[in-house]
Amino acid sequence: MHILTKEIYSLYQKPDYKIEKKNIMTGHWNYCEDGECGPINWEGAHGQHQSPIDIDLGGVERKDTVDAIKFVNYDKILKGSIVNNGHSVQIVPEEAVEHPEIYGGGLDQVYRLVQYHFHWGAHANEGAEHRVGGLSYPAELHLVHQGIENPDRLAVVGVFLRVGQEGKALAEEEQALRHIIEPGSTTTLDHISIGNKLPKNRTSFWRYEGSLTTPPCSEIVTWTLFTEPIDVTSQQLDLLRNLKDSEHVCLKKNFRPVQKLNDRTVYHIVARH
Ligand SMILES: [Zn+2]
Repeated sequence: MHILTKEIYSLYQKPDYKIEKKNIMTGHWNYCEDGECGPINWEGAHGQHQSPIDIDLGGVERKDTVDAIKFVNYDKILKGSIVNNGHSVQIVPEEAVEHPEIYGGGLDQVYRLVQYHFHWGAHANEGAEHRVGGLSYPAELHLVHQGIENPDRLAVVGVFLRVGQEGKALAEEEQALRHIIEPGSTTTLDHISIGNKLPKNRTSFWRYEGSLTTPPCSEIVTWTLFTEPIDVTSQQLDLLRNLKDSEHVCLKKNFRPVQKLNDRTVYHIVARH
């Protein structure tokens, strides 16, 4: 297995408490702001191109010469597993012949969906990792894709979640969330339709180069953030907040604070159809 693939899998698939037992010093991290295992002390946290960021609407550069992102097999029904890894709830779709992939939209290669997971907060005024004009949505979905030609690169598609009646964002996972409250617990999902997790408008998005938002914070990610959010219900948000982390306390929040933009540019892409 490719070294980075290994890293991604160990990062996203292994329940963290197992890592912790093996190596307390390097395996343990959390979202406690002032704690020694908190975001300031994470491995790799001090790079110059870190994520998430605050998208300053006055400072973005508009681009309208880019084609739309092609979402291949996003309409297919997938099976997969859902795990509480102690930091988030993560869904890993089973390898399928018609596996979801993305390309175009200014991306440098074809990227394949590896997993998706959520970030949330203790109340409705926080939760998303990226901020928009200083404001926060209550949650954010990350669809993590790995490069096929160059697997050292990731393309993460971020979708902001706002509170609404429909709750499309977690409709297929809602029941399973009640069965994975303990860290390390996992169950299966028989019906995942990734397409339902994308907004209707897929032609307007922000794009910038950044990092993983969890240790080791590697600066290998091309970020795509849709400007249009999708709905999550307040009950679904409560189910997320009720999950337990590796210290067996409620996982009230799991978003990294915003990082400095430094010398980067954020583009607002309004793609051609
Ligand atoms: Zn994430």
